[in-house]
Amino acid sequence: MRAFTYERPVDMAAAVVAIGKPGAKFLGGGTNLLDLMKVEAETPQHLVDVSRLPLARISEEDGGLRIGATATNSDLAADSRVRERYPVLSRAVLNGASGQLRNQATTGGNLLQRTRCYYFYDPSMPCNKRVPGSGCSALKGFNRIHAVLGGSDACIAVHPSDMAVALSVLDAEVEVQSASGRRRIKITDLHRLPEATPHKDTTLANGELITAVILPAPPAGGQVYRKVRDRASYDFALVSVAAVVEREGNRIRSARIAMGGVAHKPWRALEAERQLAGADLSDDAFAAAGEAAVKGAQGRGHNDFKIALAARTVARALIEAAAQNKA
Ligand SMILES: Cc1cc2nc3c(=O)[nH]c(=O)nc-3n(C[C@H](O)[C@H](O)[C@H](O)COP(=O)(O)OP(=O)(O)OC[C@H]3O[C@@H](n4cnc5c(N)ncnc54)[C@H](O)[C@@H]3O)c2cc1C
Ligand code: SF4
Repeated sequence: MRAFTYERPVDMAAAVVAIGKPGAKFLGGGTNLLDLMKVEAETPQHLVDVSRLPLARISEEDGGLRIGATATNSDLAADSRVRERYPVLSRAVLNGASGQLRNQATTGGNLLQRTRCYYFYDPSMPCNKRVPGSGCSALKGFNRIHAVLGGSDACIAVHPSDMAVALSVLDAEVEVQSASGRRRIKITDLHRLPEATPHKDTTLANGELITAVILPAPPAGGQVYRKVRDRASYDFALVSVAAVVEREGNRIRSARIAMGGVAHKPWRALEAERQLAGADLSDDAFAAAGEAAVKGAQGRGHNDFKIALAARTVARALIEAAAQNKA
């Protein structure tokens, strides 16, 4: 690990100044960043620990909830308001990592954790995300965990956060602060597709601190998070699906679908959602939505199985969400 300096500001003004130092990076719970520093996939010169900033509260806001950026994954998942009104979020977070990791990991850090592509963690291998212009080892290498949607010739990594997938169907926003002020970004606009610049995971500017996640009032309908992984104890998603279905008798009034493990960002399946709005409730309609959700998907060899798996997982999640919302 390369040498670095460290500071732990206790107010926002000091944090904004600290992040302006050369090579500075925010540190949340450190469960991802420190691993990346150990293999020198990331080499910050200065760490700005955000854990003492007053950002750990979860509070009511405009009929929804405001989740402070340093609220731990455990506190978020256990909050009674989250469990009752946003069960898809609580389930997604509990499906991520292990109990010990969730006690340490923060909301902001979870959203900004980096891909688990093996080559990104291996400095001996070319990787455009780690070293722009060096090439992508996954394209012709072992790509079982990689993207089937939205990839590029430069990178086919997937975003690993379960939380982000659930936040996507909840239409959450992320509040960020920097020296130039405060702004909100829709969660669906926070992460980006790799295109020719996969070293940029998000649309955040340098030095922007995530201060909170804002949840609007909960959506009507049943909420489900379904995750398929190699190992039940803890593992990243091969495919995951967050689904919300609102019924009106035997008709589907509306559906929201987001997939994890398939793209460089949580993938909102808007065409499948449009197809379901107003449709008669049936397993066939949900199966067709699953197919629509993976339209245009491209396997790279080892990950071909993900396309059929994602379609089936979407259909199954929709069936479960509709069953919860018996009107
Ligand atoms: C064995 C293992 C299994 C895991 N399994 C899963 C899983 O199944 N699903 C899943 O979703 N995750 C999983 N994770 C990942 C884990 O959830 C993340 O490591 C964790 O959420 C990151 O949070 P953190 O606070 O520790 O972030 P850190 O490691 O501290 O930071 C991560 C990134 O976020 C930035 N950052 C942190 N806070 C802020 C802020 N407030 N504003 C701006 N930037 C910030 C940092 O600069 C860094 O770039 C696993 C991790 C491990 C080690
Ligand atoms: S998929 Fe992306 S992260 Fe993985 S080796 Fe290729 S460029 Fe690097």
